[in-house]
Amino acid sequence: MATERTYAMIKPDGVQRNLVGEIVSRIEAKGFRIVGMKLMHIPRATAERHYGEHVGKPFFEGLVAFITSGPVVAMVLEGENAIAEWRKMMGATNPKDAAPGTIRGDLASTIDHNVAHGSDGAATAEREIGIFFEASELID
Ligand code: ATP
Ligand code: MG
Repeated sequence: MATERTYAMIKPDGVQRNLVGEIVSRIEAKGFRIVGMKLMHIPRATAERHYGEHVGKPFFEGLVAFITSGPVVAMVLEGENAIAEWRKMMGATNPKDAAPGTIRGDLASTIDHNVAHGSDGAATAEREIGIFFEASELID
């Protein structure tokens, strides 16, 4: 088991619905170390870069419009197997398939407003952390 860092984000729906405390509570209770955290409004160009893998898909425009529609909470989480652990905590992409006890299972109901984001692999985590944070914004 390795200590990893992952990029986690509370999406605009989560912030708008006052779920920041609930989600951060779960992150802390699980034992992740929060090494970076900020409330921010994502610029369109940054959103397009972040979701680059989805360019050309039918939901791309809606996805970029949604993620830039209001502030998000951007975080870097550190822990054993943090990348997979955080995705497990979030649950399936489509809240209709997400198990009870997961963030999406408990707090979301539609795929386009699914409350949270998590990097899907080591290379993605490194890329996404770099998109949203300067090294100086992260604690050692
Ligand atoms: P995220 O990247 O947000 O953590 P994910 O890795 O589980 O979610 P991706 O396949 O990367 O899922 O899709 C990114 C986001 O795009 C999803 O969280 C969802 O909001 C949206 N999305 C994915 N597939 C669809 C779809 N078929 N229709 C509408 N939105 C979708
Ligand atoms: Mg993804």
